Amino acid sequence: RSWQYQVSGKLATAQVLVDVKAEHIKSGGPMGMKQEAIKHILRHKPDDTFYMVDLANVQRMFKAWRAAMPRVVPFYAVKCNPEPGILKLLVAMGAGFDCASKGELEMMLRMGVSPSRIIFAHPCKRPSDIRYARDHGIQYTTFDTVSELHKIAQINPDFKCVLRIRADDPDARVPLGLKYGAEVSEAPILLRTAKELGLQVVGVSFHVGSACQNLSTFSGAIENARKVFDEANSLGFNMELLDIGGGFTGHFDECGNVMFGEIANTINLALAANFPPEMGVRVIAEPGRYFAETSSTLLTPVYGQRDRVAADGTIKKDYWLTDGLYGSFNCILYDGQNPAYKVVRSPLMPEQADSTSFSSTLWGPTCDSADCVYKDVTLPVLRNGDWLMWNNAGAYTVAGACDFNGIEFTTPGKLYVWSDSAVDVAEEEAMHA
Ligand code: PLP
Repeated sequence: RSWQYQVSGKLATAQVLVDVKAEHIKSGGPMGMKQEAIKHILRHKPDDTFYMVDLANVQRMFKAWRAAMPRVVPFYAVKCNPEPGILKLLVAMGAGFDCASKGELEMMLRMGVSPSRIIFAHPCKRPSDIRYARDHGIQYTTFDTVSELHKIAQINPDFKCVLRIRADDPDARVPLGLKYGAEVSEAPILLRTAKELGLQVVGVSFHVGSACQNLSTFSGAIENARKVFDEANSLGFNMELLDIGGGFTGHFDECGNVMFGEIANTINLALAANFPPEMGVRVIAEPGRYFAETSSTLLTPVYGQRDRVAADGTIKKDYWLTDGLYGSFNCILYDGQNPAYKVVRSPLMPEQADSTSFSSTLWGPTCDSADCVYKDVTLPVLRNGDWLMWNNAGAYTVAGACDFNGIEFTTPGKLYVWSDSAVDVAEEEAMHA
């Protein structure tokens, strides 16, 4: 099905591969389509949290990935953002999926994804999740302990097991190695245990940490994976799968091109050196942030405020936003994000003449005083009904929200758009705290 948008007086048509509800944005204004979509949201949904989800950016990321790393099939990490539009688009484009629980497996199977396109990539699974996977034909899973091997042997000895090794980038924003990944030196005992239990070990996986900073971490991890492959092959296992995990960031340059070349080159070279194509090893990855981050723009209205007089007599402002740490801004606590914002004036009120700035605190909407998004940031005077806009808000935001205080953080309003250009919303620099 295709959507049509009237932008700057001309009609833009986008081919839509997925079955999601589209809203038509009509405008004759001089702005890009996303800005028109934002204006539409502000005019029609004036008082609650809202997401604009740009599915075209997900498609751009997918195409860039396939072009840059044709050997590596992306299995999207559903946990990063199980947004149905994103999932359906990725299904249609042929991605695989990394699921971490029964709930995620169920979600993908219900969308008609074949179990062969899923990896149950959790090294320490709950027994009931293993039973569910077994009963629904999920074949591949990861492990990194002797205890997990015993659990698998008891519940689903037919699993194709992938040994997750530790591969930390010390500068990754969210390191994962403290919790998951066996040391390479532990591989022999794990492999021998699997042999004794009659299990099939078929591959190696790793995760360098989310938002990886050092490309060399990937090369080192791929080299280590090869060592474990050799060890396993020598024990008689039939090793066929390398899973290079997640950790990728996906951003656009100022021309709207995906910036992915450097990391892809590094990985391609390391694969060629350690897993030449003639070895016949299938290579997959588990990117989450890469696909999800630039897909979404979060819009939060200001709905309450007060002035406070500091000890030195200066006035400080407090503002209440409809979203907070229990909602999308859990990303500040759990994902180490420092989300950037822009002030967007309400189109329903007269222009704001007062350009004075104040030290301001942004509170979330729950009754918890710990629910503070940013403290003492400099902001122009905001009115109730003005908005803050947060770009690149698609990764580890709403996915980690809960409905504390009965506030529907997990089900914000949303509008799918299909942008003509990835640089549509880029205007002046956004502000960080
Ligand atoms: N795979 C596993 C096992 C993970 O734990 C995660 C994130 O925590 C991912 C993939 C996705 O990582 P990223 O979003 O950094 O690509």
